[in-house]
Amino acid sequence: MSVLCLIANPNEPALDLPLLQRIQAETGGEINWLTQRIAAEIVKPKLAEPVEAARALIGDRPVDIALVPLANRRKRLLIADMDSTMIEQECIDELADAVGLKAEVADITARAMNGELDFEAALRTRVKLLTGLPISRMEEVRRERITFAPGGRALVQTMKTHGAFTSLVSGGFTYFADYIGKRIGFDEAMANILEIEGDALAGTVTEPILGREAKLSRLRTLAAFHDIPMAATLAVGDGANDLDMIKAAGLGVALHAKAVVAAQAQVKIDYGDLTALLYLQGYADEDIVR
Ligand SMILES: [Mg+2]
Repeated sequence: MSVLCLIANPNEPALDLPLLQRIQAETGGEINWLTQRIAAEIVKPKLAEPVEAARALIGDRPVDIALVPLANRRKRLLIADMDSTMIEQECIDELADAVGLKAEVADITARAMNGELDFEAALRTRVKLLTGLPISRMEEVRRERITFAPGGRALVQTMKTHGAFTSLVSGGFTYFADYIGKRIGFDEAMANILEIEGDALAGTVTEPILGREAKLSRLRTLAAFHDIPMAATLAVGDGANDLDMIKAAGLGVALHAKAVVAAQAQVKIDYGDLTALLYLQGYADEDIVR
């Protein structure tokens, strides 16, 4: 038993009833609105390949489509990437901007997130370029440059209200992840530690680096500790280092992700914001804690 989810961005409500009815005529199943014009589902579609049928009818409207199982619909564990997922920046690129090296560092970040470079080696290289950056500048970056991704707080608060455990796991840095995790309301935050000498960055990161395997490992550990079946877990991210946790989770979401990640994830969200992850779980407008 499955449900076909149709989700738009709250800023661009692209769904309407005639469109849903045309899709339902092809797929069968029952229409259920989650939020007017923004999110709806077709419960128990009868067509074998409802996603393709819906895609053909939706055309170029900015609507994400996903087919998810009805069993274990509401997840009890959320594990989320930080940079370009829960926040709209890559912290390391913003730090590099403070030392005039944004282009150089951002290029390495993009290649690492695309899976073209070894994550850990690429992190060491970039952190070395930040050697000597004063902590005061880092604080400015955290205060002035970082913006939260839309829907993130609603995602975390709604899942927590319904009993889920929420974890922010970042290949970035504790300096940002601890602060951002608290602001959004995550139960825990994990990241890499930037080493400091005097009042500036030493240019090194504490080993072992929290990379691709560590994210997957945190998902498995938390699921076991909280006695949650993998089918009831949700992982979200955008980079190649998120791919293992995305593939292992019951619901793995590539959010505005690099192509290599989107191609391998169970669900990709290209248009919606983080509230899309609530709609995938069947939460309706009135359930969402804002
Ligand atoms: Mg990321």
